[in-house]
Amino acid sequence: KDFQSMDLSRPVLKGLSTLGYTKPTPVQSAAIPIALMGKDVVAGAQTGSGKTAAYMIPIIERLLYKPSKVASTRVVIMAPTRELAIQVADVAKRIAQFVSGITIGMAIGGLNLRQQEQELKKRPDIVIATPGRFIDHVRNSPSFSVDSVEILVLDEADRMLEEGFHTEITEILQLVPEKRQTLLFSATMNSTISDLIQLSLRKPVRIMI
Ligand code: AMP
Repeated sequence: KDFQSMDLSRPVLKGLSTLGYTKPTPVQSAAIPIALMGKDVVAGAQTGSGKTAAYMIPIIERLLYKPSKVASTRVVIMAPTRELAIQVADVAKRIAQFVSGITIGMAIGGLNLRQQEQELKKRPDIVIATPGRFIDHVRNSPSFSVDSVEILVLDEADRMLEEGFHTEITEILQLVPEKRQTLLFSATMNSTISDLIQLSLRKPVRIMI
């Protein structure tokens, strides 16, 4: 099955072709149709599996088909490191390049806090973040809100726990609306990840590649 037969919009297909993505990877074939239905997904996927596009494609499709009238942050993507967050933002920009009006913001450590605050004030559709800085912004930037979040992605969930972000992740799960879609990606599965899955997802479809 190729991307064309997945019911994707023209601008997204065009974005994928400029990236040189012609055929979906296994995790993309499995995750995209399920995520498009709005279901929660747990995927066991390594770096290099194409996991970023596996969640980014359904996210962009949702934003495209259900535009909101007011500016609000509707998607939050959590990554373990700023390097990964920057890579994810790059993939997002490329896939969304022919979709008009999608805004992307960052909440990552190491960048100027005030500048990020100004960016987040505008409530970008998608916020890509590392856990510590994200919480900092939610707590301290009165004009940033996560009340309209519809999709939460936990990318490299195992690495986020390894980096010591357990408390932060738990807090983030309490900050975002309970009614949401959650997509969790992890290269490894163990009991701590199982606990996080229990805590963060609702009736998830499990994809093990
Ligand atoms: P990721 O696992 O998301 O970090 O992606 C790993 C690499 O695979 C990146 O360099 C992507 O650009 C590339 N990639 C992802 N999906 C596809 C695809 N469908 N076709 C070709 N390359 C891809």
